[in-house]
Amino acid sequence: MAQWLQGRVVENQHWTDTLFSLRLSVAAIEFVAGQFISLALDVEGERIARPYSLVNAPGSDDIECYLVLVPDGILSKKLMQLNPGDEVFVSQRASGFFTLDEVVGHHSLWLMASGTGIGPYLSMLTTDEPWQRFNRIHLLHSVSKQAQLAYSSLIENLQRQYPVQFNYRAIVTRENLAGTLGQRLPTLIDNGVLEQSLNDTFDSQSAVMLCGNPDMVADCLASLKQRGLQKNLRRKPGQVTVERYW
Ligand SMILES: Cc1cc2nc3c(=O)[nH]c(=O)nc-3n(C[C@H](O)[C@H](O)[C@H](O)COP(=O)(O)OP(=O)(O)OC[C@H]3O[C@@H](n4cnc5c(N)ncnc54)[C@H](O)[C@@H]3O)c2cc1C
Repeated sequence: MAQWLQGRVVENQHWTDTLFSLRLSVAAIEFVAGQFISLALDVEGERIARPYSLVNAPGSDDIECYLVLVPDGILSKKLMQLNPGDEVFVSQRASGFFTLDEVVGHHSLWLMASGTGIGPYLSMLTTDEPWQRFNRIHLLHSVSKQAQLAYSSLIENLQRQYPVQFNYRAIVTRENLAGTLGQRLPTLIDNGVLEQSLNDTFDSQSAVMLCGNPDMVADCLASLKQRGLQKNLRRKPGQVTVERYW
């Protein structure tokens, strides 16, 4: 049974009509970058809770989550309507194994996300660990439309801070946009365009993380297995670590 802390909305930033970031003030929660908490509200007398990854770095004063409004979803609709000062319940503990200490390899870290699945990577990239551990870090964010490329100023700061070590590629699948890749991530793996674009190759010392849409995760995993990479399990370490959002 979850133990709940009382959180308060500090900011509800709407990026588009379906994407938003909630910043909450809450008693300190210890977590490792990549983990998630549960957010909950009482809806018609019932406490409805869902998991959400933390975007902020461990040790920040407030916590932040990046969310999408799910069609016919119960909780995301209510969370999107919250205003500063409103109350939200936050699980006392963070959980999950989608963290860099579960990942093996040290050459290149490939962080692949669809939609709000970029959230846990932003938390990881604002800690020292990936920069100390990996020679190269590639952040790949797949969305349908340009307007869904949130957190661009944070990403630009990372590019300025780590101009050699860090590469970011936006993937926009339903608009033709110069400077972005236009095909689904699994296709970009299969046809070699991703590796060409980043001037890097998948090998046994690569670490790949996949987060977001379950179809994207399954299809990328299948493509990476074709390239000889294996799913990373605690009982059987491999190169590909996954988090499915539904
Ligand atoms: C470990 C973990 C971390 C997560 N972190 C995040 C996060 O950081 N940001 C975020 O936006 N979501 C995240 N999710 C998904 C989130 O927990 C909820 O599933 C989502 O917000 C739906 O809640 P809801 O009550 O609005 O919809 P529900 O009533 O629970 O779901 C309605 C239907 O929508 C489908 N669905 C659920 N999520 C999505 C989605 N994102 N897109 C399309 N269909 C969906 C479900 O299969 C269900 O059939 C995470 C999930 C997991 C397991």
